[in-house]
Amino acid sequence: MLKRPALCIAMCCIAIFMFAQDRKGGDPKLSEYWTPEAKKITPGKTQADPPSDAIVLFNGQDASQWVDTAGKSVKWNVSNGALTVVPKEGMIKTKQKFGDCQLHIEWRSPSEVKGEGQGRGNSGIFLMERYELQVLDSYESKTYVNGQAGSIYKQLPPMVNATRGPGEWQTYDVIFTAPRFYENGLIKSQAIITVFHNGVLVQNHMALWGSTQYIGTAKYEKHGEKESISLQDHGNPVSFRNIWIREL
Ligand code: MG
Repeated sequence: MLKRPALCIAMCCIAIFMFAQDRKGGDPKLSEYWTPEAKKITPGKTQADPPSDAIVLFNGQDASQWVDTAGKSVKWNVSNGALTVVPKEGMIKTKQKFGDCQLHIEWRSPSEVKGEGQGRGNSGIFLMERYELQVLDSYESKTYVNGQAGSIYKQLPPMVNATRGPGEWQTYDVIFTAPRFYENGLIKSQAIITVFHNGVLVQNHMALWGSTQYIGTAKYEKHGEKESISLQDHGNPVSFRNIWIREL
């Protein structure tokens, strides 16, 4: 057992040693951790190509990953590597359901310009069948800003208008965090979305107000942890291609 003076000396020595270590920057290993290791995947050849852990929802060949609202085979047109809205055939949705995800999707408004505002090249990507990321020809056509391309419809306008011209292929890269609900249906945490339109940040970690509404204010209604992704038939022959998703 150390006597009191010896104990004091020992503690002083430890304090001086630790102070010296701190001044030197200490042991770098103390702030390293090595597990769990990040899963190794193979990225696509370009950022538009699906990485090895992606689920391909449309590869240009067939729409077998999709069904119509009645659960039947889709009647949208598949040709020239694109999946195109056939007006009045209705929305389509993925067979598989998703929650938190990274989504890549390419779209093209018709090269033949018809209509104005919401009537020109309108479609939409409904995350969880509820939260619409607007697809619209917003190249040279005015509409309400929270209804243009890159907006979360009737909620959040895009930070900039990065739209390419009609007939040109465009990309959306989306990072989506699903909302969480309490047992009683009240909202626990809002859905969060980040969107790049043609590589340009247009929604930066934004909280959604609720399910998209055409009339009235968006509000949350409890739904499953995973739901389908749906594409809108708004009466315009908008095309889609190269759709892939990563579950997060
Ligand atoms: Mg729409």
